[in-house]
Amino acid sequence: MSRSEWEMVIGLEVHTELRTATKLFCGCANHFGDEPNTNVCPVCLGLPGSLPVLNRTAVEYAIRIGTALHCTVQPSLFHRKNYFYPDMPKDYQISQYDVPINADGWLALPDGRRVGIERAHIEEDTGKSTHVGESGRIHGADHSLVDYNRAGVPLVEIVGRPDLRSGDDARIYVDELRAILVATGASDGKMEEGSLRVDANVSVRPRGAADLGTRCEIKNMNSLRSLGRAIEYEATRQITLLEEGGTVSQETRHWDEGTGRTSTMRSKEDAYDYRYFPEPDLVPIVPSEEWIRAVADALPPMPGDRRSAVAAAAKLAPDADPVVTVVRLDLDSLLHAAVAAGADGGLAVKRLANEVASSLERAAVLDPVAFATVVQMESRSALTPAQARTVLKDLLEGGGDPAAIAKAHGFEAMASDALADAVDQVIAENPGEWERFAGGEDKVQGFLIGKIKAATGGNADLKEASALLRGRRS
Ligand code: ADP
Ligand code: MG
Ligand code: ZN
Repeated sequence: MSRSEWEMVIGLEVHTELRTATKLFCGCANHFGDEPNTNVCPVCLGLPGSLPVLNRTAVEYAIRIGTALHCTVQPSLFHRKNYFYPDMPKDYQISQYDVPINADGWLALPDGRRVGIERAHIEEDTGKSTHVGESGRIHGADHSLVDYNRAGVPLVEIVGRPDLRSGDDARIYVDELRAILVATGASDGKMEEGSLRVDANVSVRPRGAADLGTRCEIKNMNSLRSLGRAIEYEATRQITLLEEGGTVSQETRHWDEGTGRTSTMRSKEDAYDYRYFPEPDLVPIVPSEEWIRAVADALPPMPGDRRSAVAAAAKLAPDADPVVTVVRLDLDSLLHAAVAAGADGGLAVKRLANEVASSLERAAVLDPVAFATVVQMESRSALTPAQARTVLKDLLEGGGDPAAIAKAHGFEAMASDALADAVDQVIAENPGEWERFAGGEDKVQGFLIGKIKAATGGNADLKEASALLRGRRS
């Protein structure tokens, strides 16, 4: 079978740390990068007799995430997920199991395809172990260090359905999910600081097959680029294995960025390995309808809605590059202000995605009305595109009045004088048509305007040209 006869199936589990001030069940600071083992207390160290107290803000953030992902927000329970690792001081992780706070939602990719969200539940993070030695992994390490600052940091785990079909799909999904998480204010979305961690479940099946193949779960991808690479590598490995008559065994595999390969980490635990049981020290979370509604009402527009609004203003597709860029760079409020001030949306988006995007640090000081004026001058050909870019550049650098900037460059004066000259020239060169137009025959206007357009090399503002023509009629 050739590669194209196989279909890749990918489902992602994304862990996102919540941006709360304190941990999920204690008052320790939730802060990345502090001196190891300084943000700890009896609760997050799992000392006997300590009891968890649920962080209300973490619950609110989880509700924000569930709402943004179109999930049902429901009463939920905590369970203990038991396992022994040195980075889990309690020997169990408090998580949600069969009754998560958010269930059954979806995320729309920029091109409109929907990816199902099975659940988005609350759990606590583990500590962080560092294996010291050449391999950087536990096997072959000289010794290991554990930092419990991260133990008990609130997480939401977003479990996606197996709806993705390529490494690119996976990257686009995580990128969109990250933008949504950041928009909700619940997460800072920083993959490089581990606030966003992605496990990829990958399987392959003959294209058209109804059943899913056996999956492997890949861990340790630290960037979107490595996520895409790891998935493509893993799918190829599985296809080769199956074509050679082998079988894929369900396991957790480790991505090695250096070698560009995945390797066996451990065979996959099943749920029963974790001996889940209800957390006896916590009551169910039962958010009131009013609270859920208030949280939903306070959410800002999500990136997809913002792209739709920009697309509508610019008459472009929501996944068109300039639309995506304008929203990604938070330039859409500038766009809408400029459109409200009379600028053409299509041209404004183009200028934002190019000139403004390339001096982004200045965008905050760009006056939307001045920006709108430059766009308008360009739309009515008072400025050529090159002239408009120059004026915009000056505007970004030092502010000011676009007309004055254009004048200082000698742009605007030239344009309007040139238009008046062109009108006079066309009148002189077409005396017969002019006489008919001057005598009231409006249908000749199109002919004269056509001549003006040609004489100005297409740069004339045709509205202004017709006003000039009519003005000379008297
Ligand atoms: P676990 O709790 O063992 O990680 P789940 O059943 O909750 O397992 O599934 C976890 C993830 O695996 C989900 O994101 C899901 O989309 C994905 N997944 C499940 N089956 C497959 C498969 N056959 N191929 C690819 N991904 C899959
Ligand atoms: Mg899992
Ligand atoms: Zn603590």
